[in-house]
Amino acid sequence: MNIILIGAPGAGKGTQARFLEEKYGMIQLSTGDMLRAAVKNEEPLGLEAKSIMAEGKLVPDALMVGLIKTRIAKPDCAKGFILDGFPRTVPQAEALDAMLKELGKKLDAVVEIKVDDAALVERVSGRFTCAKCGAGYHDTFKPLKQAGVCDSCGSAEFSRRNDDNAETMKSRLKAFNDQTAPILPYYKAKGLLKSVDGMADMQKVTAAIEEVLRV
Ligand code: ADP
Ligand code: AMP
Repeated sequence: MNIILIGAPGAGKGTQARFLEEKYGMIQLSTGDMLRAAVKNEEPLGLEAKSIMAEGKLVPDALMVGLIKTRIAKPDCAKGFILDGFPRTVPQAEALDAMLKELGKKLDAVVEIKVDDAALVERVSGRFTCAKCGAGYHDTFKPLKQAGVCDSCGSAEFSRRNDDNAETMKSRLKAFNDQTAPILPYYKAKGLLKSVDGMADMQKVTAAIEEVLRV
């Protein structure tokens, strides 16, 4: 199964992608994670994307399409993929259609996770990640079971994103509303769009996603 998770920053795409990976064996393709790795490794793409990401704006379509085109053709996508953070504009969605056609693949569903703006700010403000295994946490909504120790791998190193602050969230939300929301009608017209209430707790959101993927 090949799906897209769409939602504003902090909606819970990464959290839900992890559940889906475990349950269905599909692979999560997060363009945000790929870009952060490129920044960290000082790759040319990272150098170009760094300041754009820090401002909460979108990286140019041509760069993003090139990145996902190479990734989606890899053998580990054969069991299915979960796109998280891509496409983020209508031209990216159109380019995705073209590349899937070329590869003989298709999309099974596009799942929109809906969350109110105030809750999004609260979610990103408390978000942190294990620096070793990437497990995601939240100060309030998903705290560590044992202080300072990752539940999944036992590591004691964590990281917070520098764009996860109230100021940058303003431009990230604007980018979502202006540039990403228009892809919802694009997929609705294709009969692929399913929406779930992302305000519920994590397990309920997972159950709602499983429900819409069943039909
Ligand atoms: P996204 O990938 O859409 O940016 P994340 O999955 O990283 O969002 O979630 C953002 C933050 O909100 C994380 O700290 C996560 O633990 C928390 N979170 C995710 N889903 C929920 C939920 N349903 N209720 C409360 N907090 C959540
Ligand atoms: P995310 O981890 O999905 O919140 O993405 C972090 C940042 O990476 C965004 O604010 C953008 O600057 C950039 N980014 C990630 N995916 C895309 C994309 N598909 N198109 C443009 N920019 C992107």
